[in-house]
Amino acid sequence: MWRVFSKTVKRIDSVGTGLVSLFFPPRCYLCREELERLDVICDNCRNSLPRISGPMCTVCGQPLVDELIDLCHSCGIRLRHFDMVRTLGIYRDGWQRLIQGLKFEGEKAIAGELSALMADYLKDKDPFGVVDTFSYVPLNRRRRRQRGFNQSQLLANSLSRTFSIPVEHGLRKIRATPPQTGLSRQLRRKSLHNAFTCRPSTAKGRTVLIDDVYTTGTTVEECAQALKRAGYERVFVLTVARTL
Ligand SMILES: [Zn+2]
Ligand SMILES: [Zn+2]
Repeated sequence: MWRVFSKTVKRIDSVGTGLVSLFFPPRCYLCREELERLDVICDNCRNSLPRISGPMCTVCGQPLVDELIDLCHSCGIRLRHFDMVRTLGIYRDGWQRLIQGLKFEGEKAIAGELSALMADYLKDKDPFGVVDTFSYVPLNRRRRRQRGFNQSQLLANSLSRTFSIPVEHGLRKIRATPPQTGLSRQLRRKSLHNAFTCRPSTAKGRTVLIDDVYTTGTTVEECAQALKRAGYERVFVLTVARTL
């Protein structure tokens, strides 16, 4: 019993301690139900997080209505810098509350829960095959200092431990950009152009770029371009959620 308990404590501690781990008895972050073991959310809430299923764009993973079409409009009209994007769920309900709790309330234990769900997805679906590294969307230095951590890096570090695959730390955001929320796709692209760079790394081949939310894809595309310029042949993207 103790061994199981201490193992769970270790899992939560390994991604940092936020308020979640201080409450006792532990309660589900989403529904506040009392939990039988130290965990972030209950099985009920975990099972009811809305997953993406059904027909989707083979490149960017956008859900599609028509089963006979395999590319979305954006991927149909131009070549994307990433090779494939996959996402666990739609950015609303539980997914949105978990991501906001991690980013804005600093509940780092949530990163353990989200990365475990990402790991389950990779084991279950295996969308990218064999990969050499995990990488993450970086924050610029000022934002990183303000928040104290980079949520995407926490997720990548945790996945790295689960799969024993190294993390690529060479990607950098070299200039600050205005908040992207509310900007059109064109303005986002203009504002993020050449905002990222990656030092030529020793690990070449295939990387999985980790981010929390996929919106228009501009950020991950700029990152993918920087990773490819540095020598990566394939850049896959895995995000927790996406907007519709
Ligand atoms: Zn719950
Ligand atoms: Zn697409």
